[in-house]
Amino acid sequence: MLCSTITAEMVTMFKERHREGGSIDYPLGGGGSIIEALVRGLEKHGGRLLLNTHVDEIILEGGRAVGIRVRPTRGTKKNSYTIRASKAVVSNASTWDTAKLLPKDSLPTWSYIDRANVTEKTDSFVHLHLGIDATGLPSDLECHHLVLNDWKVGVGAPQNVCLVSIPTVFDPSLAPTGCHVVHAYTAGNEPYSIWKGMDRKSPEYAALKEERSQVLWQTLEKVIPDIRDRVKLKLVGTPLTHERYLRRTEGTYGPAIRAGKQSFPGPSSEIPGLLCCGDSTMPGIGVPAVAASGMITANSLVPVWQQWGLLDSLDVAA
Ligand SMILES: Cc1cc2nc3c(=O)[nH]c(=O)nc-3n(C[C@H](O)[C@H](O)[C@H](O)COP(=O)(O)OP(=O)(O)OC[C@H]3O[C@@H](n4cnc5c(N)ncnc54)[C@H](O)[C@@H]3O)c2cc1C
Repeated sequence: MLCSTITAEMVTMFKERHREGGSIDYPLGGGGSIIEALVRGLEKHGGRLLLNTHVDEIILEGGRAVGIRVRPTRGTKKNSYTIRASKAVVSNASTWDTAKLLPKDSLPTWSYIDRANVTEKTDSFVHLHLGIDATGLPSDLECHHLVLNDWKVGVGAPQNVCLVSIPTVFDPSLAPTGCHVVHAYTAGNEPYSIWKGMDRKSPEYAALKEERSQVLWQTLEKVIPDIRDRVKLKLVGTPLTHERYLRRTEGTYGPAIRAGKQSFPGPSSEIPGLLCCGDSTMPGIGVPAVAASGMITANSLVPVWQQWGLLDSLDVAA
């Protein structure tokens, strides 16, 4: 029987996953293949992708965003330089990371920064990435597993929901022959506060990684009981990993905006010339959602008649 403290989100999530015909999709080629497809689309339409390029600042002139100042980070001796925007500056960094790029002493930026400051963050993640020996594992091993440890405390409770993916079940090319790739993680419910300020090279950090990943090992043992003996490679990710490598403030999953109570902002911001997309904007968190937010933002930059032209060019009868 369902307990009264189960949240509406939890019920929706379980209903979605287990409804007739429900499925979870995995991209062949791994997550990187989605990125490659997006880059192909960008370049096909004349865009250019600059990697290892840190945006230092969004440049404002007369209160309007007119460009960015960038700093190449690695592998080049180039100095900082500016890129002028022909139409608008669009940021898909999270709202907190975009706020950091705005000049604090400029009047129109206050409202954006204030809004970012009051936007609640979801918590972060602990990850266990493994490469394991697959010898003797059943041929019908399932790829995806979700373990809810305690029905009473809700999906947001730390260490309560653990997810497991074994994508080599579908795409063996992701690992050497005879091995599986395993990813287990606690989803958006790891408090940043317990990791904050830790030295990533310290024994305390290593010990906390060990402690906080135990729940993931226990989850994995429900799927592959002798998994610890099979490990060839082990990497533990923490909120500090998220913060550093994904460059997201506090390693957050995204804004904690509750369906039906609040709504995600659209593409326009308080600052003329600055548009936003990504998981801090409508329709929210998740790859399909952020791709849609990019389309919404792009559409808001072109006139209505151009959009009509595009609709006319689609063969709706096909
Ligand atoms: C473990 C995990 C599992 C997930 N599973 C799923 C799933 O199964 N299905 C799903 O749909 N979604 C899933 N998600 C969510 C999804 O991955 C995210 O919502 C989505 O990738 C967010 O995209 P984004 O473009 O908004 O932000 P990001 O991907 O965070 O992109 C923002 C980019 O801005 C860059 N950046 C930040 N500051 C600067 C700066 N100053 N200069 C230059 N660059 C900067 C960052 O480096 C980053 O590349 C998952 C997320 C996680 C962490």
